[in-house]
Amino acid sequence: MSAGYDLIVVGAGYAGLMAALTAQEAGRRTLVIATGNGGTHLRTGCIDVLGYIDGKRVDDPVRAAAQLASARPTHPYATTGVEALGVALLVFKQAMARAGYPFEGDGHTALLLPSALGAARPTALVPRTMAAGDLRRPEPIVVVGFDNFKDFYPALIAENLERGGHRARAIMLTAPGFEHEADLPPLTLARAFDRAPFRSALAAQLGPRLRSGERVAFPAVLGLTAALEALADLEKRLGAPVFEIPTLPPSIPGIRVFNAFDRLLRAAGARVQIGHPVIGFKTDGLRVTALTSQTAARDRDWACDAVVLATGGVASGGIVVDSHRVAREVVFGLPVVAAVAPPETVNGLSAPAAYFERPTPSLPGLAVDAALRPLDATGTAAYLNLYAAGALLTGAEPWREKSSEGISLASGWRAGQ
Ligand SMILES: Cc1cc2nc3c(=O)[nH]c(=O)nc-3n(C[C@H](O)[C@H](O)[C@H](O)COP(=O)(O)OP(=O)(O)OC[C@H]3O[C@@H](n4cnc5c(N)ncnc54)[C@H](O)[C@@H]3O)c2cc1C
Repeated sequence: MSAGYDLIVVGAGYAGLMAALTAQEAGRRTLVIATGNGGTHLRTGCIDVLGYIDGKRVDDPVRAAAQLASARPTHPYATTGVEALGVALLVFKQAMARAGYPFEGDGHTALLLPSALGAARPTALVPRTMAAGDLRRPEPIVVVGFDNFKDFYPALIAENLERGGHRARAIMLTAPGFEHEADLPPLTLARAFDRAPFRSALAAQLGPRLRSGERVAFPAVLGLTAALEALADLEKRLGAPVFEIPTLPPSIPGIRVFNAFDRLLRAAGARVQIGHPVIGFKTDGLRVTALTSQTAARDRDWACDAVVLATGGVASGGIVVDSHRVAREVVFGLPVVAAVAPPETVNGLSAPAAYFERPTPSLPGLAVDAALRPLDATGTAAYLNLYAAGALLTGAEPWREKSSEGISLASGWRAGQ
């Protein structure tokens, strides 16, 4: 058995990373163990707090979260408290600024950014690299793509922006230096943007094609390690505001967030182990005393004083649903509240669309007490020192609400406390 940790966080998505940073920076010896990367690498890299209530777009995400919390006592925002959401957003912004990847927005204004398809997408905090994309701004948009980067569709984005009442057009380029590459991976392109000679060659191609007063949208690959520098340099060379629009996964902006958390955690003395599923645990009956993780060589036990379980929901493998549609939490076997009925069937076939169109569903997840401790079958805390956070919690519909990162940060911060 390894030397003990004050806290072990299982999962390295927004919830787990936030919980770990909160605890480690409060002086707790913290270990993060995760099977792999979480939502950071899949989502937009923005912090959605609450985009919609009952299908209506909200103007003030934090205020709307307070309304939602009082209307739905089982919603994670009701459990964490909306004060926790406000603090978590602030803590997140400060952390990212310290890591050199600043965010804009205060949580009280819904920013409207173009989605990967050119629809208006409400969010609450955005990395500076996306801030000039706010669709409430008047400048026309020129969407720049690369014919050798397949995961981004400038013509479609521009067409949909036009449909939404925004002036937009598309320009296709060939990424300089990659003329013989048919299909560039996003990480390769992001690393190219980190380099000044690439940006210079690109600006030389693009500059003459820009019109006065336009702002320039690129796929969200403007640098992996030097995104701010790339942004400032391109704006200077092009003489126009520049911003990123999300692409298909992997999300470079989300990877920057993960890397920023990872740097901060390691600098504060935390240990981060990615690639190691937690496969077992030990208890003294009341408390979890150790977790077992799987490594290439052998299984390993880690003693701990407390655990934050942030393994995500069904999409991330924190909850599995068997062929009889019985849901199960994977690490502790905790009971899952299937707050949504199974998908309706049409002619005996399941109808996934109906699953998302139901009037008041929420995804299967864990019920927790006021301290975020998962409940056992009797309705009491399963273990005194086990806490849950993020998409693992029941009661929300993050896909429809656009609340994913807000819930993860607020509950991660509370659990880390
Ligand atoms: C493919 C995919 C697409 C998604 N699309 C959307 C979307 O469009 N809209 C939306 O609102 N939400 C979406 N989500 C969900 C979104 O990622 C989450 O709502 C949010 O990011 C949850 O963050 P989290 O930190 O709770 O968990 P996650 O970011 O899911 O992280 C879970 C972490 O737990 C780890 N883990 C899981 N099981 C174990 C284990 N046994 N041992 C150790 N580690 C473990 C994972 O490796 C990962 O690091 C998507 C998720 C996935 C996986």
